[in-house]
Parts: sequence; structure tokens; C-alpha cells
Amino acid sequence: MRTQVGIIGAGPAGLFLSHLLKAQGIESVILEARSRPYVEGRVRAGVLEPGTIETLGRLGLDARMRREGLVDEGLDMRFRGRTIHLDLPGLTGKSVMIYGQQEVVKDLIAARVEAGDPLVFEAQVTRIEGIETDRPRIHYTEGGTDKVLECDFVAGCDGYHGAGRATMPQDILQVFEQVYDFAWLGVLARARPMPDMTYTNSDRGFALCSRRSMQVSRLYLQVPADTDPNSWSDDRFWDELHARMFDEGRTEIEEGEIFQRDLAKLRAFVAAPMQHGRLFLAGDAVHIVPPAGAKGLNMAVADVRVLSRALTEFYRTGSRAELEGYSTLCVERAWRVVRFSSTLTGLLHKFGHHTPMQRNLQLAELEYIAGSRNAQASIAEQYVMLNYLPDYP
Ligand SMILES: Cc1cc2nc3c(=O)[nH]c(=O)nc-3n(C[C@H](O)[C@H](O)[C@H](O)COP(=O)(O)OP(=O)(O)OC[C@H]3O[C@@H](n4cnc5c(N)ncnc54)[C@H](O)[C@@H]3O)c2cc1C
Repeated sequence: MRTQVGIIGAGPAGLFLSHLLKAQGIESVILEARSRPYVEGRVRAGVLEPGTIETLGRLGLDARMRREGLVDEGLDMRFRGRTIHLDLPGLTGKSVMIYGQQEVVKDLIAARVEAGDPLVFEAQVTRIEGIETDRPRIHYTEGGTDKVLECDFVAGCDGYHGAGRATMPQDILQVFEQVYDFAWLGVLARARPMPDMTYTNSDRGFALCSRRSMQVSRLYLQVPADTDPNSWSDDRFWDELHARMFDEGRTEIEEGEIFQRDLAKLRAFVAAPMQHGRLFLAGDAVHIVPPAGAKGLNMAVADVRVLSRALTEFYRTGSRAELEGYSTLCVERAWRVVRFSSTLTGLLHKFGHHTPMQRNLQLAELEYIAGSRNAQASIAEQYVMLNYLPDYP
């Protein structure tokens, strides 16, 4: 098999890239290790920033999101029983959309399959060779048979454990990582959600109430990193959530059947450069952020918007200028996003090593934000706009 751009991974990065390239008449083949039901059923992110929303619109793939997604105009932070309300449109002129990552993935897969464009499931990439030549080759296994995809460029959109980053010459790759000793226990519950995304910093730890639909709540509790999600009974989960959200009367948060639970470990990770020869990496393959900023999916989409414009320039004019600048541009943005997500994590979570001094500084920061429109505007701007990139598709 031969194509122009060989894409490894059918997560948000790989799928968006394939559609962005197709819109410019550039061929690609996606190789995905997992099955279609597995990829479509993976519950992960749920907040779409304006840059991601507008890209879906330009691709003509936003119909279901517009119908079923929920516009989110507020971000609330609680502490000491009080609420700081960030009015996103009032502070930034923009809002975000609540629409599950698995729904975006389903829409993008359906459009690609319907158009008859190649997307091979259960195709495990084992090796990439020739990235320093004009004819890189992706080796993969499909149905027990070894196969090869020849291409002009390889896009490693294959997540943290993928083959893309492992192919980078290790002597040029710099890795920066911070692993937290706590995690998020996340559940989906059939219960009417709170109207705004609501974070809380309580003496008992962090919690978050967000939405997936008008009938489904997505709820999180900070827990130790080695927690078994099934060790928490439903009653224990609800008791702890009410307590951390200062909902002592249990009147505010509606309870319902918990039908899905998972544990997300928290880490900040950046690998750079994001390219070498004809190999370009995007998304979780090269950066992971703690989830407080709701940024992982949006960062992945922003990367491939930059990459698709650079590849378009190459195929139209032969110029490599944008391709050569890809990593520099994306890594710089990645650091800004990591900084925001890490700051929000530091502001809202309970840290085992915190002294009373540090705890009071954390609360003083929240008091400052509560009283300063400028501080609120800064948080809102970063929450909504860090991956906006108005000059990209
Ligand atoms: C449990 C969890 C919860 C999360 N919650 C949030 C959240 O609330 N908000 C937020 O913004 N972000 C969240 N994230 C992060 C967000 O989901 C990711 O940032 C996003 O999925 C990145 O997209 P991606 O396309 O780069 O990688 P992925 O979605 O990981 O896709 C990579 C794809 O590559 C495939 N692949 C890997 N190796 C190979 C191989 N060798 N051959 C072929 N295919 C391969 C994988 O199967 C996968 O489908 C969460 C992540 C996790 C794990």
C-alpha cells in the first residue's frame, strides 16, 4: 500500500488530520491498533474549545455536535463554601462546548468510512523505517499478517505508548515529566447535571461536577493514584462529592445510577522536538497535561491544524518552510498549555506535602481571584483561547 501521509492512530489527532488533509486534496491512510467499537467507546475528554469547534464546522462535521452538544458559558470554582463564577462569554467573547470525545471520534470515523477513505482498524504498527529518506515505510500487523505502508510523510498520532515517539532518535529527544501522586476517580451518572462546570477546592480534596448531556453528569473526585475505582461504593462516592462541594443539605447535586467509572492518573509531560526527517508527532504522543484545564484533546487538534497547513504548503509549492517550523511552534504552545493546566492543578488540589503555610497561600490565591476581574479574565482566556490559532484551518 502507498499513500501521501501515513497516519498512525485513530484518536482525535489522527482523525482530524485525515479530514484536514482530505479537504486540501491530500491522501492519507490511517492505521489504528484497536477495533472500531473499542475506539468509539473510549470515554475521555468532553470539553471542546472554540478552535476545535470551528475546525469541525469548517470541515462540515459539526451537525451532530450542534444538535446534541451543550454550550457551556460558565466555569465555577468553589472554596470555603463560596463560588467564583467565571462568565466565559462576558470575559472572553467565547464559550466552550460539552460534547464527549467519543462522540467526536464517532462522527469523524463515520464520515471517513462513508467517503470510502482508508482507515484500517486492528492494524498494529510495529516499526517505522526510513524517516530520514523521502520514502518512509510503516510496518504493521493486520489479521496476523505483516504489511507495509509506504508514504511521503509519517504522522505519529498514536498517543503516549505509540510507535511514533519510540522511533525518534533518542539522542535528540528531550523529555520533561511530572507525575502526581493523586488521580481522578471519574464516573458517569444518570443524573441531571449542575448548570456550570464546577471545580472545588475543599479541605477534603478536589472534586469536579461537569456534564455530558442534560441527563448525564460527569463527576470526578481526587483520590490517591493507587486507588482501585471499584473499591468506592456508589454511596461513598456521593457522600464524598456532596461534602467536597459544600452541599451539606444534599439539595444541589442530583444523584443517579453510576454506570461507568474510571481512574485517570495525572501527569504533565512534554517531549521535544516533535519532528525528525519525515516523521511528525502530534497529540498525546508528545504532550500530556493534567486534566484540570480540559486541554488534551484540544491540544491534539491544534497540533494537526498546524501540521495540515504545513503539509498543504509543501504539496502546493514544494516549500518546506512551515514543515520545518512545525515543532517549534507547537512546543511553544504546548508549554503554555502545560503551564496553565499545572497552575490550575496546583490551585485546586490537596497536596499531601502542603504545610499550613502553603495551604493558606492556596486559599489566598483563590481569594484574590474571587475579588479580581482581571484574574478571572486571565483564567477564562487561557481556559478558552490557548489553542485558538485563528490563522489555521
Ligand atoms: C482516562 C482519560 C481521561 C481523559 N480526560 C480528559 C478530559 O477530561 N479533558 C481533556 O481535555 N483531555 C482528557 N484526556 C486526554 C485526551 O483524551 C487526550 O489528550 C486525547 O485523546 C489525545 O488524542 P490523541 O489522538 O493524541 O491520542 P489518543 O486519543 O490516545 O489516540 C491514539 C490512538 O493511537 C492508537 N495507537 C497507539 N499505538 C498504536 C500502534 N502502535 N499502532 C496503531 N495504532 C496505535 C491508539 O489505539 C489510539 O486510538 C483524558 C485521557 C484519558 C486517558
